[in-house]
Amino acid sequence: MMDFSNFYKRIAGTRLNHWLETAPSQLAQWNKFHKNGKFPKWQKVLDKLPNRQPQLINISSQVAFGGSDEISEGEQKKLHNLLKILHPWRKGPFHLYGIHIDTEWRSDWKWERLKDHISPLKHRTVLDVGCGSGYHMWRMLGDGAELVIGVDPSDLFLAQFEAVRKLSGDQQDIHLLPLGIQQLPPLHAFDTVFSMGVLYHRRSPIDHLFQLWDQLKAGGELVLETLVIDGDENQVLVPAERYGKMNNVWYLPSSAALMLWLRKCGFINVRLVDEDVTSVDEQRRTDWMTNESLADYLDPNDPSKTVEGHPAPKRAVILAEKPVSEE
Ligand code: SAH
Repeated sequence: MMDFSNFYKRIAGTRLNHWLETAPSQLAQWNKFHKNGKFPKWQKVLDKLPNRQPQLINISSQVAFGGSDEISEGEQKKLHNLLKILHPWRKGPFHLYGIHIDTEWRSDWKWERLKDHISPLKHRTVLDVGCGSGYHMWRMLGDGAELVIGVDPSDLFLAQFEAVRKLSGDQQDIHLLPLGIQQLPPLHAFDTVFSMGVLYHRRSPIDHLFQLWDQLKAGGELVLETLVIDGDENQVLVPAERYGKMNNVWYLPSSAALMLWLRKCGFINVRLVDEDVTSVDEQRRTDWMTNESLADYLDPNDPSKTVEGHPAPKRAVILAEKPVSEE
């Protein structure tokens, strides 16, 4: 069973207080459904991780907790084996007591592409929708956010996040809840809301934009990152079957179309700050993720196409604001 009481304590008395009306019963339900299966095994891993305060903490240029000189060789080996049980590690990298978790994704590259464009996070209360293992959440905290909440329904990502959090010395200004965005009440409370790599998994992308809107306070900033195609504001690809072997891809708009959708939902100051074709150096198989990766999803004869013949993955980062006068 996961204990979410520290999260409840952390948000009591803050603008997120209202969330206490729905989260406890949803998370109790989550615990009920995760009594069996893989989660209890992962939880045993969490229980066995060392409970100590790392001397080395770097969350400003990478995510690192504990140096290799802080534990014995034997302890490091034990830690390495425990973390390996949480395979596959997709989002990172993490540096933990001298262990380099070389994840499938260089999530740090995505952060580099957007960090200088967004409103400074200092003192902000931030929501990361579809946060994965929480890599970017640590970078948000490292950039001065006061409180970072992530939501992601994947139970393995929760286990990986909690592993890193325990090794961080059990930091309390960062929490991940295993919920989908659609399960949140309209909090209208966050200064910045991130949705990265999620929109194309949603069957109703416009509803997704309204759900993000509902989490932002008036004047707050949305950071939206998703797969896009080339084209004008009326271009959208709906893959008939799979896209890059993924069977849960619905809408790939052009950046122009996505910006139009955002304006139609009421967002202002909508701007494209980055477009980037994903390289096989950014998403690849590693020792910590030994399954198929991007190179296997592209046409071996023409890497500008997926194996299904769609345009290869290209991602856009779009910023937008919720107007001050609206609620
Ligand atoms: N934001 C991270 C991870 C993206 S992967 C990054 O940019 O690297 C997409 C994530 O969205 C997955 O972890 C998946 O579990 C999550 N997801 C899928 N449906 C979701 C929903 N309805 N609400 C919140 N997260 C969702």
